[in-house]
Amino acid sequence: MTTPAPSFYFPAPRTQRFCSQCSAAITLRVPPDDNRMRAVCENCGAIHYQNPRNVVGVLAVWQDKVLLCRRAIEPRYDKWTLPAGFMELGETTAQGAMRETQEEAGAQIELGPLYTVIDVPHAEQVHFFYLARALSEDLFPGPESLEARFFPLDQIPWSELAFRTVITTLEHYVEDRKGAQFPMHHYDIPLPVPD
Ligand SMILES: [Zn+2]
Repeated sequence: MTTPAPSFYFPAPRTQRFCSQCSAAITLRVPPDDNRMRAVCENCGAIHYQNPRNVVGVLAVWQDKVLLCRRAIEPRYDKWTLPAGFMELGETTAQGAMRETQEEAGAQIELGPLYTVIDVPHAEQVHFFYLARALSEDLFPGPESLEARFFPLDQIPWSELAFRTVITTLEHYVEDRKGAQFPMHHYDIPLPVPD
């Protein structure tokens, strides 16, 4: 099954061409007292800094099974993921993780401790996954998910998972389950080395 190619970028490319304050064309240069190329407006003086984005999500458990959603959107259409998404302005990481779980799986959960913090510098992102307990088996996946389902640990669709931060978070969980201890894991995902 294929989805029609979007006629627009989602999200928009990060490179900025015009000033959001005065609409003048942007110049890329290193401002005084700085050491990086920035998007500078020579007309009004605004410097448009770009910084990493936070992705927040949840590893929710119901009777020893983990909640996964099959994506209805690109990238990784049709692949399985932990419910997660971009943090919105004005919310905490915990609120964002709860919101994404509601939007993508319609699951009622009780949020637990922060479990993985994963730097993904080549994607300009930091991912945060919380542990959570599902309060019921009922799921009501939203439009971003083709389906949502609880998987026993020995039936996780490893080859059909969407993202490396999802894979490594689940790997940590499967390993930590053996000792029933779930410390926080902080690590980074390096750029894949070409074969
Ligand atoms: Zn400007």
